[in-house]
Amino acid sequence: MSHGGGLAKSLMDLLGPNGWLAAPTDTAPYLTDWRGNYTGKALGVARPATTEEVAAVVRLCSEYSHPIVPQGGNTGLVGGGIPDASGNAVLLSTQRLSRIRTIDPAGNTIVAEAGCILATLQAAALDQDRLFPLSLAAEGSCTVGGNLSTNAGGTQVVRYGNMRDQVLGLEVVLPSGDIWSSLKGLRKDNTGYDLKHLFIGAEGTLGIITAAILKLQPLPKMRVTALVAVQSPAAAVALFANIRNVFGDRLEGFEIFSALCLQLVLKHIPGTRDPFATPAPWQVLIELADTQTDAPLGESLEAVLGAAAERGEILGAVIATSEAQAAELWKLREEISEAQKREGKSIKHDISVPIARLPEFIDKADAALQRAFPGIRIVNFGHIGDGNLHYNCSMPEGEDNLRILSSARSGRASIPSGPPAASSDISQMSLLARSDEVNRVVYDIVNEVGGSISAEHGLGILKREEILRHKSPVEMQLMRAVKQALDPKNLMNPGKVL
Ligand SMILES: Cc1cc2nc3c(=O)[nH]c(=O)nc-3n(C[C@H](O)[C@H](O)[C@H](O)COP(=O)(O)OP(=O)(O)OC[C@H]3O[C@@H](n4cnc5c(N)ncnc54)[C@H](O)[C@@H]3O)c2cc1C
Repeated sequence: MSHGGGLAKSLMDLLGPNGWLAAPTDTAPYLTDWRGNYTGKALGVARPATTEEVAAVVRLCSEYSHPIVPQGGNTGLVGGGIPDASGNAVLLSTQRLSRIRTIDPAGNTIVAEAGCILATLQAAALDQDRLFPLSLAAEGSCTVGGNLSTNAGGTQVVRYGNMRDQVLGLEVVLPSGDIWSSLKGLRKDNTGYDLKHLFIGAEGTLGIITAAILKLQPLPKMRVTALVAVQSPAAAVALFANIRNVFGDRLEGFEIFSALCLQLVLKHIPGTRDPFATPAPWQVLIELADTQTDAPLGESLEAVLGAAAERGEILGAVIATSEAQAAELWKLREEISEAQKREGKSIKHDISVPIARLPEFIDKADAALQRAFPGIRIVNFGHIGDGNLHYNCSMPEGEDNLRILSSARSGRASIPSGPPAASSDISQMSLLARSDEVNRVVYDIVNEVGGSISAEHGLGILKREEILRHKSPVEMQLMRAVKQALDPKNLMNPGKVL
C-alpha cells in the first residue's frame, strides 16, 4: 500500500475540490458515527457525482491498493460506515449521487441513485399518488444505498417486507471497477443466480451500490389505529395471528411495548397519557390501512377486538377516532427510545426470533437477566409481526448511571473481573461496564430459540466477532468464499461483517 500522496492527487484531479475533501475540518463529520461510538481516520473523502466517477475512484483505489469505505447518510448503528484508525482508507460518500432518475407510475417503479435520501424518495412516490413503504425514524438522513446495504426494516415490514423486498434491480460498481447493472425493472427474470441479493445487506463489503430500481405500492387512503391492552407476550402473539388472519395485507403495523416502556414515556415525554384507566402489563399498537376511502375498517376492527375481549384474550382496547388521536397513540410507541435515553444509558439489542417463540424468549431472557443482575430494568418493545424486539436493558431504578458512566469513561469505575456472581448487585457498578456479560445472556438465549442477533441493523464492527458464535462454520465459509470471489484484494470495507 502506498502512503497515499499519489492516490490523493489522482483523486483530486478526478473529482475536483468539491469531490475530494482532505482537510480535517471537512472530513471530520464523516468519520464519527451517529451514536458517537466509533471514530476513524481516512486519507480523504471522495464524493463522486456519477456512477462513472464511482467506478474511476474504485479503479484508482484498487491500483494503489487502498481500502474503500462506502457511506450514505451515516445513520447506521453498528459502525459499518466508519473507517479504521489507520488513515489508509478512502471514505466514499454517495451524497452527490442523489438523483431520482425515473419514475414509472404504470409499472409502479422508481429508479433512485444510492445517495438519494429516503424521505426524498417517499415524497417523489407521493407526488405520483404512490407509496414507497420503507419508513424509519432516520428517514430524513439515511439513503437508499445505506438502506439497501443494511437491508433496513422499520414499522411497516409486517405488510411490505424490508428493503430487500422493495428491490427489482441494482446498479453496482464492483471492486474491480466494473459496473454491473440490472435496472430493467423486470418482475420475472429466472436466468440463473439472482445477483442483486448478494449486495443487499452486504454493508458495503462486496461493492458500491450506485442506483436501484424499486417497487412502488398503491397509496393507502384510510387508516385505523388501535391500542390494545394484553396480559402477556403470548396473548399479543395470539392476537397477532387473529388480526393477520382477518385483515390480511391490510395489517400495516403490529407493535408491542411493555408497561415499563409506557411508564418511561409518560415520565419523560410531555403531553403523553395512558389511555387505559388501569395500567396494563403489555400494550399492542395495531395499524390497519386500505386503499379505499370508504372501507369499513374501524367497524371490523371493533368487532374483532370486542369478540377477543369477550373471550378474555385482551384486557381492553381503544380505537382512535381522529388522526390526532392516532398520532397520540403512535407517540406512546415512537417516543420509547427517547424516553429511555432521558432515563439514562442502556444496553441495546436488536434481535429477532420466530414469532411463535417470542413469549419463550422473553420469559427465559427476563428470568436469566434478573438472576444475574438483580434490579436490571428491561425496556422491551418491538415489531411483533416481524418477531423483532428492541430488547434493551437499563440500570436499576434510582441508579445515578450518568455519574457511574463518567467515572467508567475516565477509567475510575470498578469493573470486576470474572463471570457474574449469581447474586451480583449491579447497583455497585456500572451496568454498561458489564455489557459483554449482559449480551452473553441475551444472545445465548436468542440462539437457543433459533433467533438472530441482528434483525435490522447489520453486523458492521459491533457484531462481527459475536456472529462467529451464531453462524455455522459452513455458513461463515460460504460468506468468506463470496467475499473472496468478488473482492480478492479485500479492499471493500475491510474489517466489517467478516
Ligand atoms: C434514529 C434512528 C432510527 C433508526 N431506525 C431504524 C429502523 O427502524 N430500522 C432499521 O433497519 N434501521 C434503523 N436505523 C439504522 C439506519 O438508519 C439504517 O441502517 C439505514 O439503512 C442506514 O442508512 P445510511 O444511508 O445512513 O447508511 P450508512 O450509515 O451511511 O451506512 C450503513 C452501511 O451501509 C454501507 N453503505 C452505505 N451506502 C452504501 C452504498 N451505496 N453501497 C454499498 N454500501 C453502502 C456502509 O458502508 C455501512 O456499512 C436507525 C438509525 C437511527 C439513527
